[in-house]
Amino acid sequence: MKLSLKKAHLAEMIEHAKHEFPNEACGFLAGKSRKVSKVYRMANTERGGMRFTMALKEQFDAARDMRSQDLDMVGIYHSHPNVRPYPSFRDIQLAMHPECSYVIVSLINGMPEVRSFRIKNSMVEEEEIDAG
Ligand SMILES: [Zn+2]
Repeated sequence: MKLSLKKAHLAEMIEHAKHEFPNEACGFLAGKSRKVSKVYRMANTERGGMRFTMALKEQFDAARDMRSQDLDMVGIYHSHPNVRPYPSFRDIQLAMHPECSYVIVSLINGMPEVRSFRIKNSMVEEEEIDAG
């Protein structure tokens, strides 16, 4: 498995993560056939701490927008302001979309790092990011 996106998409997720620091940023990646064409920034309704919850209305709005543009949900991203870009125990517990990529943007030590994972039945597998 491989996730394809543009460098601008990576830059947008990193910028979003920095903007939300020290809270976690979160959002959706939409596109076709594992190829991202649009980033949806979502509001994190949780403050302070290693967690995120996306506002429900924004989730519906994003889903409707994807349908209207014939895009699929390709991935779900969030940031780790202070820890490495690997799924936490909670991330794994909450991962309910094996068809989606789980992208994590880490800002640890001021060095942005983005990694992507597939999570199925609590099994985590890293996948390649092809940033063209
Ligand atoms: Zn996490």
